[in-house]
Amino acid sequence: MSRVKLHDLEFEPFIPEAEVNAAVDRLAGELRVKYDGKRPLFIGVLNGAFFFAAELMKRLDIECEITFVKVASYLGTSSTGRVTDLIGLNERIEGRHVVVLEDIVDTGNTVKHILDALADHHPASVSIATLLFKPDAYKQDIPIEHVAVRIPNAFVVGSGLDHDGLGRNLPGILRIIQ
Ligand code: 5GP
Repeated sequence: MSRVKLHDLEFEPFIPEAEVNAAVDRLAGELRVKYDGKRPLFIGVLNGAFFFAAELMKRLDIECEITFVKVASYLGTSSTGRVTDLIGLNERIEGRHVVVLEDIVDTGNTVKHILDALADHHPASVSIATLLFKPDAYKQDIPIEHVAVRIPNAFVVGSGLDHDGLGRNLPGILRIIQ
């Protein structure tokens, strides 16, 4: 794949699709071991996590459920820290083993907000699984237990991640050209 222009920004290939797939394979294996027999409830954070959630579910041959929530947290190319309540969470959480599925964890503000909101529902356990993690940008002390790919602090698109609505459908991960 070559360079792609999305609105005003240009992106270049960064992580090939095969590498993303291999990382999701590995993560699915990790989650299978941890959650087999516990009937986990996966909560995908829309919009970005739809891709990761689908890829992960294809690979998880254990009894589990999946649902999706929406939080508004991001504008343009930098994290704003503005988050709202979880929208669309109708499942009973109490006593469940919950795994939050994120497309990317950057500062960790979104994850913190989601975990605070979930704690009110008294789950048996909560962990985070993310397709991408930026350790250099991370500002929380909550452990991000399940990471497919760690990336440096750059703005990326593809595999569900967008720039103002564009780029979610691109295979692999592309990085902004500065
Ligand atoms: P955090 O709250 O961890 O700072 O940011 C989480 C959200 O910011 C992600 O769910 C995602 O929507 C957005 N985000 C953070 N970094 C990037 C990035 O490099 N690319 C894209 N497309 N979105 C990002």
